[in-house]
Amino acid sequence: MRTELRERLRSLLGERLRFAVPLLRYTSFRVGGPAEVFAEPDTLAELQALVALLHQESVPYFLLGGGTNILISDKGVGGVVIKLGEGFDYSRWEEQEDSARVRVGAARPLGRFVREAIAKGYGGVEFAEGIPGSLGGGLLMNAGAFGGELSRVVEAISGICPDGTLVRLPGEKLGFAYRRTALPPRLIVTEIEFHVQRQPQEVLTAAMREAQRKRQQTQPHGYPNAGSIFKNPPGTYAGRLIEAAGLKGLVRGGAQVSEQHANFIVNTGRASAAEVRQLMEQIQQTVWQKNHVWLEPEVRLVGEW
Ligand SMILES: Cc1cc2nc3c(=O)[nH]c(=O)nc-3n(C[C@H](O)[C@H](O)[C@H](O)COP(=O)(O)OP(=O)(O)OC[C@H]3O[C@@H](n4cnc5c(N)ncnc54)[C@H](O)[C@@H]3O)c2cc1C
Repeated sequence: MRTELRERLRSLLGERLRFAVPLLRYTSFRVGGPAEVFAEPDTLAELQALVALLHQESVPYFLLGGGTNILISDKGVGGVVIKLGEGFDYSRWEEQEDSARVRVGAARPLGRFVREAIAKGYGGVEFAEGIPGSLGGGLLMNAGAFGGELSRVVEAISGICPDGTLVRLPGEKLGFAYRRTALPPRLIVTEIEFHVQRQPQEVLTAAMREAQRKRQQTQPHGYPNAGSIFKNPPGTYAGRLIEAAGLKGLVRGGAQVSEQHANFIVNTGRASAAEVRQLMEQIQQTVWQKNHVWLEPEVRLVGEW
């Protein structure tokens, strides 16, 4: 990146703009190389100015949420990695008699919002107890579990377009599908609006505990990972196909198909992104040979490969 552009970026964000920042500590997998530039805008105005400048200068950017659904390449990410700062971590409630509308900043951890809703006596998001990451990432992935997904409670979102303009889109325009949305390209989600219904506290607490119990039973603990590696194909489970193909426990360097849940790859030590990717490809090919099903990654591959 040109020195003059670096200086302009620096003058926009000051200390919240850094260079050659290792990204592995910003991901749940704990793998991946550095960001060429790492930017943490704290306000809408800062984000708008940053995005408009990058657009004008044709500099690529990637929006990093909680880093719990991505695999960053060992070479890292060129251009600018944007992580929304503390100014995007908020919730604003408008409570009515039986329901509430709430506007939540995209950097707020999903789990924190779930607990807040339950504590206030509102239902609809308790399925998401235990899903890590930010609300922005959760929205983009249409995060879900145990039969629920965010699409059912999202009313609208606000976001920044590549030219820096702010837009508001209603839920029905977001193209929600299984673990994906069809947002306008390169839109940065800044706020999500929910409509949640009042429910008895004991019902919500029981649902939350049930979600915790199921997670505890089925998911691996102790090693860094990125949740489910592949999406479930229609009518079946990716984990079941991987296990039936005899791949549980398969090792490639520091990466291993979890012994506990075959649709998780765990980082048992110093796994490289290349090792994780090789394991993913081996799984795809083996499952294809045995079942003629091509597993589609749920985890997003980011950076230069
Ligand atoms: C132990 C574990 C368990 C998990 N269990 C589940 C589960 O039960 N259900 C489930 O659905 N997922 C699960 N996941 C996956 C993951 O937690 C979710 O997909 C989560 O919602 C991703 O959010 P994030 O903030 O970490 O997104 P990231 O991983 O940071 O990003 C994911 C994608 O969203 C984009 N993005 C992030 N924020 C924004 C934004 N503000 N605007 C525009 N784009 C954005 C990124 O560019 C990227 O393309 C699990 C992960 C782990 C590690």
